[in-house]
Amino acid sequence: TDIEVISLVDAKKIPAYQLEKAVQNEERGVTIRRKLLGRSSTSVDNAFDNIPYKNYDYSKITGACCENVVGYIPVPVGVVGPLNLDGKHYQVPMATTEGCLVASTSRGCRALSNGVRSRVVGDGMTRGPVVRFPSAMRASEATLWLQEDANFKKLKESFDGSSRFARLEKVSCRIAGRYLFIRFVAKTGDAMGMNMISKGTEVALNTLQNNFQEMEILSLSGNFCTDKKPAAVNWIEGRGKSVVAEAIVPAYIVHNVLKTSTAALVELNIAKNLVGSAVAGSIGGYNAHAANIVAAIFIATGQDTAQCVGSSNCITLMEPWGIDGQDLFISCTMPSIEVGTIGGGTVLPPQSACLSMLGLQGPNAEEPGKNARDLARVVCGTVLAGELSLMSALAAGHLVRSHLKHNRSSTNVDASLRTVATSPAAFSSRNNHSSLFIKPNGAELIPKILTSHHTNNHFNQETLSLRNVSIGCNKIVPPSIPNLDEAGLVPNMGVLEVPTSMSVPIPTKSMDLLSVPTECKQF
Ligand code: ADP
Repeated sequence: TDIEVISLVDAKKIPAYQLEKAVQNEERGVTIRRKLLGRSSTSVDNAFDNIPYKNYDYSKITGACCENVVGYIPVPVGVVGPLNLDGKHYQVPMATTEGCLVASTSRGCRALSNGVRSRVVGDGMTRGPVVRFPSAMRASEATLWLQEDANFKKLKESFDGSSRFARLEKVSCRIAGRYLFIRFVAKTGDAMGMNMISKGTEVALNTLQNNFQEMEILSLSGNFCTDKKPAAVNWIEGRGKSVVAEAIVPAYIVHNVLKTSTAALVELNIAKNLVGSAVAGSIGGYNAHAANIVAAIFIATGQDTAQCVGSSNCITLMEPWGIDGQDLFISCTMPSIEVGTIGGGTVLPPQSACLSMLGLQGPNAEEPGKNARDLARVVCGTVLAGELSLMSALAAGHLVRSHLKHNRSSTNVDASLRTVATSPAAFSSRNNHSSLFIKPNGAELIPKILTSHHTNNHFNQETLSLRNVSIGCNKIVPPSIPNLDEAGLVPNMGVLEVPTSMSVPIPTKSMDLLSVPTECKQF
């Protein structure tokens, strides 16, 4: 019985981490572990009520993916797409608990319906062991030795012999006193490759040691890899797959789907993704939220989620395009996407199903490595969609509003949108860049504040609240505030009643104000 098994664990006859093996039944092992741990505290016991554990295929994770298992954490999976990437249409699975992310990335895909083009320009997983020599002089001799072509060949021979798929491409060294850091760069087929390359590196280091007997191998990983930590080396040299993706978004799509303009996007991209990230001292973070998309695809497809650190390195660039510069050119360059379609969490049934959704599950028999490279392109293409949509939302000032709508409970949304307190002073500070529209809604008049994204920086806390209901427009209006009593605004008290209905179509800066629906009246 379970009670008997628990008493054997108490008597240290069975280690708690080996329950599954002891009872020869994975789910029962998990059940007993929950009972065992539940005795230790009520909070742990209560927590188990909400951690599911039934109907899970534990056979795939035992000895491979997780230990001391007590259940699993369900994460919702959304789908964005179709993503028109290099002529193929992908439905991309994204596992996330961040409201708006899937909706926004989908909008990006819609705006990219004309297609995204992408290329993998580099493919090499890395491992960077640290070794030590009796002197810096000897370490420098090893550095020079490693730079000889003939010696690289020797290392490659031993490295490549360790696996059918590992192929050593390059070795680069950094010396620090008596320490030597050697970065092995290798192709690893469709596997992300850390296991594979670690094996190859070990064998190659033995070959090196045959030539430098006094060399000490301190660690197979000396952080010059660099795995799962922010590091300039991955940003500069690349790691995993280095990918570039580009698209041209016609002006009418920028206006109609993204509700902004090319000029506004280009300006914001420079200010935020380039200057802002430079000011922040960023390395590889010249983007709006690449990590959001990378993390969600990684969770859905069973990637090593800790590798979101390096895999999210991305520079997003935007330029005016076309004869009149109204179209948008956008590119995302991601030098270090660490992905695989075989090994690790990719073998678990739901994660494997997500890879199948992309047509990229498992090894590519004809061209080993192609599935992993294609997955990296999908990641980069989806990041581009995510960048385009978020940057547009920011340019048009929609972000807070859409987050309130999709990322909070509806109770909160109603409460926060219904009454927005502000001060008359706050209004006047933004007059010369804003317009106000009123839309009748039955007996009520619905006020709409249309603000220019250019003025957002000047808003104080109260006026930021107003941005929750603002929509983008940079029409200049006279600096005086109209009497807004009818609209529900009581200027003296500085209170704006904002109905929950947000049904006015969103004008863009390039749209002639005459084309604003007639039921909207401009002051
Ligand atoms: P990782 O190195 O990403 O941790 P593993 O090395 O643990 O992954 O898993 C990859 C395994 O899959 C290896 O045993 C490798 O021989 C096998 N394999 C089969 N086909 C392929 C392929 N096309 N690409 C890479 N590995 C493959």
